[in-house]
Amino acid sequence: MSGKVTKVSGPLVVAEGLVDANVADVVRVGEKQLIGEILNMTGDSASIQVYEETSGLGPGAEVVTTGSPLSVELGPGLLENIYDGIQRPLEEIRAVAGHTITRGIFIPALNRDKKWKFKPLLDIGERVVGGDIIGTVQETTAIEHRILVPNGVSGVIRSIEAGEFTVEETVAVVEGEDGKQTPLTMMQKWPVRVARPYKKKHVPNRPLNSGQRIIDTLFPLAKGGTAAVPGPFGSGKTVVQHALAKWSDVDVVIYIGCGERGNEMTDVLNEFPELTDPRSGEPLMRRTVLIANTSDMPVAAREASIYTGITIAEYFRDMGYDVAVIADSTSRWAEALREMSGRLEEMPGEEGYPAYLASRLAQFYERAGVIECMGSEERLGSLTAIGAVSPPGGDTSEPVSQATMRIVKVFWGLDSSLAYARHFPAINWLTSYSLYVDTLRPWYDANMGKEFMLDRERAMTILGEEANLQEIVKLVGADSLGAGERLTLETAKMIREDFLQQNAFVDVDSFSSYDRQLRLLKLILDYDALCREALGAGADMEALFKIEARERIARAKTVPADAYEAVYAEIDAAMREDIAQIRKGA
Ligand code: ADP
Repeated sequence: MSGKVTKVSGPLVVAEGLVDANVADVVRVGEKQLIGEILNMTGDSASIQVYEETSGLGPGAEVVTTGSPLSVELGPGLLENIYDGIQRPLEEIRAVAGHTITRGIFIPALNRDKKWKFKPLLDIGERVVGGDIIGTVQETTAIEHRILVPNGVSGVIRSIEAGEFTVEETVAVVEGEDGKQTPLTMMQKWPVRVARPYKKKHVPNRPLNSGQRIIDTLFPLAKGGTAAVPGPFGSGKTVVQHALAKWSDVDVVIYIGCGERGNEMTDVLNEFPELTDPRSGEPLMRRTVLIANTSDMPVAAREASIYTGITIAEYFRDMGYDVAVIADSTSRWAEALREMSGRLEEMPGEEGYPAYLASRLAQFYERAGVIECMGSEERLGSLTAIGAVSPPGGDTSEPVSQATMRIVKVFWGLDSSLAYARHFPAINWLTSYSLYVDTLRPWYDANMGKEFMLDRERAMTILGEEANLQEIVKLVGADSLGAGERLTLETAKMIREDFLQQNAFVDVDSFSSYDRQLRLLKLILDYDALCREALGAGADMEALFKIEARERIARAKTVPADAYEAVYAEIDAAMREDIAQIRKGA
């Protein structure tokens, strides 16, 4: 079925005569067979979003529909790969076509020649349904790829074989009720705009351990949860996202880069393959898939990349893994949406964004969750979605930030004034929030003891009080404060500087275990409690503020990981001793 181009407007192409085509079909446009997708249809006229540069294309060019929606290939070979927004393997394209992507080039997403060692887990005669694991492939040293029966296929295994296969070769045959034989390969396809099915969604109740103190202790994210990191340029979004990609205790990370400027993305492409997985010492790429929109790809590809990324993430989730999707940044993605909407001459909403901006964002984040996987066995998987938002000028009252805040359950608000003061991570403790605190409390209580959450609340209270006291100081000066209030300011300062500040570039500090976070915060809160008591007994405030243990608390972050328990215990003992002395002198 083919039609003819009637109009070209940047990435938007209008074609007529596409009688049999459907919305969301992938089409090939013009002589170069550029890849496009039908956005909407009126009669036989289709508006097509083209994922490649359209210059040179004009009215009359032929448009052919493929009859299938924009899909990704799922199977061994995904990990360690770098794809563009429509899952073209960038490295291989580069090898064939040089540095710029030649238009219309076609290289499959999964390598067709590579053989993978398939290890069957089931035998001939066993019954299977969609989602069952028939066997495994050790895809990288980090991840075992579980080969799933495609959704919709069920029956009895008639053949299954161990051995080395390409993703297109049959590894098993399933015979359905009706006697129909379905050959299974290690590769499946899935339309990116359709969420992959699951049996049931659960309330996320395990935290994602990020090793970042302000995140784990104050604003925790749950595995299967949603979070946004908004912040102006230079506030540390990239560093936070890299830290999350590196340190999060998830099995697989999908990093989607929709950088505005080409060099932003080049940075990611250069940096990511260099990162090592701190937990295993192996390259981080062994458990990562990178989706990158390079500068030579038009905006439309950015729009698709979010879906491509999350579909790949769902696939690993369906194997029973904990997966994180990190999208950098959803603002750039929304701008692509706005540009296409403008070209489609749709009615603009706020700031020119289409009225469906919020629902599209919601559709992305809705694909996160803790789920019971398809299949006859019980298996849980989780997909955590983290999106960076880069509002122009850092003003979060703009539509993308606002719509995102209404959807996500965790908000780590980066602040340029904190970044300017070199307080990193520049996550503002007054504006950030986590709505998972209550659902995660049982986990923290059971695994860290009840004090973890109690200390968290105490720390939050002190930080809140500090903000109020600072207002008073601004109005009437510090002299108006009582000793207890002065102590609150001191403690808050310690929480900020000695606990919340965390240097991503200092090895011992870049990751903090839960236990270490608990003990460090406890030192500070104990200092506060002991001083408060001593002040009540008339002890000298200035002397209390000057004890040596405070210096040691300030340096406690950099104590080596194998020594912190002993050192923190020593600091604690010294602190108690000093405060008791001062108290005695009162
Ligand atoms: P953005 O992506 O928001 O533009 P970046 O993530 O590139 O900002 O951060 C800008 C700079 O801030 C970094 O180059 C680094 O010097 C500093 N920075 C950010 N976060 C941290 C951190 N956790 N520890 C130390 N330095 C940081």
